[in-house]
Amino acid sequence: MQSLPSSTGVYALLLALPEARSLQIGKIGDTTFPAGSYIYLGSALGPGGIHARLGRHISGSTSHPYWHIDYLRPLCTVIGACYLVVEDAVSINEQPALHQTIPIECRWSQTVSSLPSADIPLPGFGSSDCHAGCAAHLVRLPNGIMPDFESVQSDFSTQLVKAFAKAAGVSAYDIMFL
Ligand SMILES: [Zn+2]
Repeated sequence: MQSLPSSTGVYALLLALPEARSLQIGKIGDTTFPAGSYIYLGSALGPGGIHARLGRHISGSTSHPYWHIDYLRPLCTVIGACYLVVEDAVSINEQPALHQTIPIECRWSQTVSSLPSADIPLPGFGSSDCHAGCAAHLVRLPNGIMPDFESVQSDFSTQLVKAFAKAAGVSAYDIMFL
């Protein structure tokens, strides 16, 4: 993960769950996650920034589950990830230059939630601290980005980056896709 910056920012993790799995997720409960593609939205504001947080999620090294995604992540394949560097962690939730009124991770979550066929397998997943009205920061796309459809995946990634750039008020070139 040398390519990931240690800057603060927001990210999206794209996962594929090959078959339905039941899981107990921390305190929010027991649920069955249907097979499909999943997009998890988060922010990396702590030490090590995007490198530390997104790198952790990509590597899946979660011996001590802390975030909700730590429970689901080991069952999934990582399809891809993208991130946006937002240098000023303090104002990440209110970037005047980016015309932000709600956090970018929430804008991204709501962007993905509004895609056709998107559903929310577990309300509250990843959004314990969310005050922007997101149903969850984990969205499932049943017909989205399964790894066997690489061309679809590529098209989807392009569209996703454009949608994320628009939602964040930045250029698509500012969104890094892995
Ligand atoms: Zn939110």
